[in-house]
Amino acid sequence: MKKISTILLFSFSTLNLTAQSFIQAYQDRVNLLKKEDIISNLKEFEKLGVKTTGSVENDNALKWIKDKYLSFGYSEDQIEEDPFSIGRLKSKNLIITKKGTVYPDKYVIICGHFDSINGPGVNDNGSGTSIILETAKILKDIPTEYSIKFIHFSGEEQGLLGSRHYVNDVVYKDKTRQFDIKMVFNLDQVGGKKGMFHDTVFCDEDQGGTSKNNAASTQVTKELMTCTTLYSPLQAKIDPAEHSDYISFEKKGEVITGFFEYLRSDLPHTEDDTFANTDTQYIFNIGKATIGALQHFAVANK
Ligand SMILES: [Zn+2]
Repeated sequence: MKKISTILLFSFSTLNLTAQSFIQAYQDRVNLLKKEDIISNLKEFEKLGVKTTGSVENDNALKWIKDKYLSFGYSEDQIEEDPFSIGRLKSKNLIITKKGTVYPDKYVIICGHFDSINGPGVNDNGSGTSIILETAKILKDIPTEYSIKFIHFSGEEQGLLGSRHYVNDVVYKDKTRQFDIKMVFNLDQVGGKKGMFHDTVFCDEDQGGTSKNNAASTQVTKELMTCTTLYSPLQAKIDPAEHSDYISFEKKGEVITGFFEYLRSDLPHTEDDTFANTDTQYIFNIGKATIGALQHFAVANK
């Protein structure tokens, strides 16, 4: 028996290695990402103003994101608004669901917040928002084994309010889990600062909180790093996951990972977090890494 299980273990780990090798079909889809689309998203995002949770601008940003999905060809019944209120604040998250072919009831979540404070938030987090949009556009008709939820959270800057609501009241209802999550892949502040030299991205690993999900996060974060070097020109370094929406999931024991800029801009949360001060080439490169990684995590057609 022992011998058989050793062989089984060996073949499983070999499978894992194969899954992490370069896949040309994945690269071909990564190559569909256009820098000009990232740029126009960021300019439109800037024009939407200061998207403070609960403001008209915040609501307009949500509508703008929703219209993008409709223009990509996602149907109304794939798009869900998740309203929440905290005190007098009212806002909404936006969730877009794409069903998987082999594991339709198990979800890979890719997420990022769209709210901002004090400024238009082009880096924090127009950058992540823009990448998630373009990823959803490119993968729209690509079959994946796992289902995908593209989630745009509000209320992040006030203390992860939108994601906390989503986890506590949508993923769980009356403390009963409603669906299975394979993993959560969060993008926050991946815009860099114009004039700085950005050739590296942080891959966020769960090193704290609930400890039973840490090892699985270490594994997916390694895979994220490999995807980064396979499908983008960037280098990858490990960073502890903190202060962003994946923490709401971490607290419920989910497996998390994410991207964050390696050289940290000092402009987020100021009125200078603008398009002009953001490194669009860096966002474009992180977009490539994201499209490669999401195909890997959701197991896209090869
Ligand atoms: Zn942020």
